[in-house]
Amino acid sequence: MSTHEAGISGELRRFLRGGVSLEEHKEATAQTPITTFIPAEVTIPLAQHLGPPAQAIVKRKQVVQRGELIATAEPNGAPVHASVTGTVARVALSPHPTLTEAPAIVITVDPNAAAPQCTDDPAWATLPRDVMLARIEAAGIVGLGGAAFPTYRKLRLPDGVRVDTVVLNGAECEPYLTSDHRLMLESPKDVLRGAWLLAQIIGAQRVVIGVEDNKSDAAVVLQAAVEQLSLSPAPDVLLCRTRYPQGAERQLVEALTGRRIPARGLPLQVGVLVQNVATAIACYQAVRYQQPLLDRVLTVTGPGIGHPMNLRVPIGTLVQDIVAHCGGLDARTAMVIAGGPMMGRALGRLDVPVIKGTGGLLFLRVDDVQREPYGPCISCAACLDACPLGLEPNQISIYTEAGRALETESFGTRECFECGCCAYVCPAERPLVQFIQIAKAAFQTGSAIGLGVRPGVVHG
Ligand code: SF4
Ligand code: SF4
Repeated sequence: MSTHEAGISGELRRFLRGGVSLEEHKEATAQTPITTFIPAEVTIPLAQHLGPPAQAIVKRKQVVQRGELIATAEPNGAPVHASVTGTVARVALSPHPTLTEAPAIVITVDPNAAAPQCTDDPAWATLPRDVMLARIEAAGIVGLGGAAFPTYRKLRLPDGVRVDTVVLNGAECEPYLTSDHRLMLESPKDVLRGAWLLAQIIGAQRVVIGVEDNKSDAAVVLQAAVEQLSLSPAPDVLLCRTRYPQGAERQLVEALTGRRIPARGLPLQVGVLVQNVATAIACYQAVRYQQPLLDRVLTVTGPGIGHPMNLRVPIGTLVQDIVAHCGGLDARTAMVIAGGPMMGRALGRLDVPVIKGTGGLLFLRVDDVQREPYGPCISCAACLDACPLGLEPNQISIYTEAGRALETESFGTRECFECGCCAYVCPAERPLVQFIQIAKAAFQTGSAIGLGVRPGVVHG
């Protein structure tokens, strides 16, 4: 069925400034249904969210059930649960994908354990808001679009703040990644129930789901589910033009609502709450089934991996175990990125776990990774045209290169959200995002360390 036949408005929503058209590279996994992989052991870090790490409450040799609380939340943090049934092998410092090393609970999986029973609360949709919110908090849910901010904190609106619209992010604008696409295709009703639930909690009257037009099949499936579920308010499924960074909060809100978030501001300031589709599903499962966040659906892809696929894995599954499950690495694999190629983070090792915020694993070969030495700025202004915020990355790079990073604030260093559009279009191959990161670090330390540093190039 076409989007027109499905009753979806033919008008493509778009953000107005900058952005780039990228090669999508989604074909390897877009049609690959999500399958489940359970390793022999998981390493579950206590720090997986923005905020203080959780505190372990289990000991070595203790038997734990999938879903059991194993680390309690500190104020403003999030709890951590056993993602598998098994025995605690140790609680110790372990490799971490973003922190180098952090305390973690290692659990040896019991392969014969029966799946724990779920409790289905038939009254879930009529629960008081504070009960819904408490279940989301107890489930340890964080933003699964990458930020890993505890979701209950985002849903607990500051006094006096009114939000009338929930925007659900189904854009998945990073190349290669298709896990959100698959979730929308395979679990459209759970996506919609989750979005509706979020609106109930914050008192929003409108729910809008933005899907890029390279995933119009997902939009059709969602629209059919809207008609079957008869939710009130009924979510609006809107198609967006496929253009990076359509999935960034500011760009998505502008495209779907016409509202412009102020510089360095939040969607709340224009009456909008943004969540991604995977987070919406997790919230629905937490409220209806009181199920903690235990698994992560992620895309494992790129020319460096044997069998690209969309996988559901228990949180704590090591990247090296996923690699083995997916057919191993190509001998020319040179880089592993957690996330997409534009905003993901390079991993230095494979013995790190999938955490709540891991949305993808991208394996690139030597040929895929840009290695050309970069040149001086030729003042072509391509980066200025590409920047969706209208910043001046060329100037930030020139000043930072000259050891004058502390003088770059007026060019927009603090506003930059490191989308990488500027670096993508730069004909001199200048690693503009790394220069901006150096400038931000200089602001933090108050000194322009990085003087003379020539950043490496990471974009594939
Ligand atoms: S990385 Fe920063 S400066 Fe570059 S295009 Fe994105 S927002 Fe603009
Ligand atoms: S795109 Fe590159 S070369 Fe062109 S103005 Fe920007 S930094 Fe300079």
